[in-house]
Amino acid sequence: MAIWKIKAPFTPEQVINLNAYQKQGHFHPFTCGSAKRCVEKVTVRYTQPGVIKEGEDSFEVSTTLVATEAGWVCPNCDYTQDWAWGFMGEPPITQQQHDQNKTIPTKSR
Ligand SMILES: [Zn+2]
Repeated sequence: MAIWKIKAPFTPEQVINLNAYQKQGHFHPFTCGSAKRCVEKVTVRYTQPGVIKEGEDSFEVSTTLVATEAGWVCPNCDYTQDWAWGFMGEPPITQQQHDQNKTIPTKSR
């Protein structure tokens, strides 16, 4: 399979497909390129007195990038990324059908 890259700005259709790929789980999603620093920063913010409720000592930080027409953005910090794999911008029909045929057992109902 040919691997190529697409660059921001993305089209509205590409944004939809890119975010769909992020959620599908077939591929490891793009994550924040400065994830360690990013999580630390959010951790500091969350552990300010009064932010974490009593008895609550853990929280989840998502560093999965979100596609916008201007490029990828991190939900937590100002990290951005301006490229994606070309197939991620295409409708994922072929891959999806492939995986469905492969992984979903035929159920009789
Ligand atoms: Zn980040």
